[in-house]
Amino acid sequence: MKVVKFGGSSLANAEQFEKVGEIIRSDSERRYVVPSAPGKRFSGDTKVTDLLYQAHAAAEAANEASGDPEKIAVLDGVLAEIRSRYQEIIDGLGIDLSLEQEFVTIRRNLLGSADKDYAASRGEYLNGIVMANYLGYEFIDAAEVIIFAGDGEFDSEKTNDVLAKRLKDIDRAVIPGFYGAYEDGRVHTFSRGGSDITGSIVARAVRADVYENWTDVSGFLVADPRIIENPQRIETITYRELRELAYMGASVLHEDAIFPVRREGIPINIRNTNHPEDEGTWIVESTVKKSKYIITGIAGKQGFCAINIDKDMMNSEIGFGRKVLQAFEENELSFEHMPSGIDTMTVFVEQDQFIEKEQRVVSAIHRRVHPDTIYIDSDLALIAVVGRGMKSTRGTAGRIFAALAHAHINIRMIDQGSSELNIIIGVDNADFQTAIRAIYDIFVTTQM
Ligand code: ADP
Ligand code: ASP
Ligand code: MG
Repeated sequence: MKVVKFGGSSLANAEQFEKVGEIIRSDSERRYVVPSAPGKRFSGDTKVTDLLYQAHAAAEAANEASGDPEKIAVLDGVLAEIRSRYQEIIDGLGIDLSLEQEFVTIRRNLLGSADKDYAASRGEYLNGIVMANYLGYEFIDAAEVIIFAGDGEFDSEKTNDVLAKRLKDIDRAVIPGFYGAYEDGRVHTFSRGGSDITGSIVARAVRADVYENWTDVSGFLVADPRIIENPQRIETITYRELRELAYMGASVLHEDAIFPVRREGIPINIRNTNHPEDEGTWIVESTVKKSKYIITGIAGKQGFCAINIDKDMMNSEIGFGRKVLQAFEENELSFEHMPSGIDTMTVFVEQDQFIEKEQRVVSAIHRRVHPDTIYIDSDLALIAVVGRGMKSTRGTAGRIFAALAHAHINIRMIDQGSSELNIIIGVDNADFQTAIRAIYDIFVTTQM
């Protein structure tokens, strides 16, 4: 039995819906379907989820202005645009369905007390209704089966019980992705891209044989196709490798999507809706299959800054590191990496989050450890080179450095995880793409 999740671009219009319908109907094992909201139809288009966030902002502005008709007209404009996206799909598919009542309710709730999560969740909710109608499957509102605890944490065990019971006697169903609800019924969403997580939760609850995740690329690729032209496909990747890559920006699959299926050892198969004949990528717990290259994949993120803290004899001061990290903790910042020397320590954080708290963090560090100097480096990128094969291969780091030196890139930071599954390199934002190309080139193209 298979659980199938379709991403936004796979459901952007009626033509894509038809491809999806064909995929589902071609295999009777595909019994539980998790749709995202309609994504971009062409480059430059806006995802329905983003339109819904706009609608929420417009409703808030209208509410603050005590229902000023001009502000309400802005909201109605956005809602009309969203409605036309669904109408285009409904008309294109020729199904008999009206979402009029749904839109009346959504508008009323937005002008009431509905929050941002409720607004965003309607993209998946409505698409689920359309999908269920098109396939002739039962529709199950995710708010009834995906449960969040009061603090916003996903309640995996309660959800699993409720969902397993609910699906036990239902042969075929559509469960929209991305959202669930608190016990009191208020809707809550996962972070962006979270429909991947819902698919995994459903796969666990029904103990699927496979969780198929259908998207617009033929699998997990060795590097981001927006940076490397036609990158090689990864045939098999482990959950842990995937998590490293996903966290570092390989956005194909949400980084948290592996947790539910991992408990049951269910493999994930990434597939291409536009090329269903391609085998895609298998994501598994463990495998004897070696990856084709020494490295499995490369991913990276831009927009970090490094806070360098210098103090003579810091190495002999017990508790120094803890106190520095406390300065970040009290400002609710999580850190990415923390390389250190004898008299210096550096903390990498996301620049966007750091920027507004910068001076507070700096003074907290001064107060706690009295450093000689603090120096902040900005606009840095982190690149992760990931591979289960690196542990047993000599010279991987050396080859990365040689490749980057050859491309005239200055390395700002190096960090190798203790699992030897990854090597993280810090470079300037400006060198980001060149660095990824240089690494890809040496391990994949030339295999020097
Ligand atoms: P969906 O809407 O189906 O959830 P996403 O946009 O979330 O799809 O993820 C697929 C996209 O991820 C691809 O179109 C591609 O641009 C991007 N991507 C980034 N890194 C990679 C990678 N290593 N392999 C494949 N795709 C990648
Ligand atoms: N529609 C949501 C988003 O755009 C969730 C998803 O696509 O997985 O983030
Ligand atoms: Mg996605």
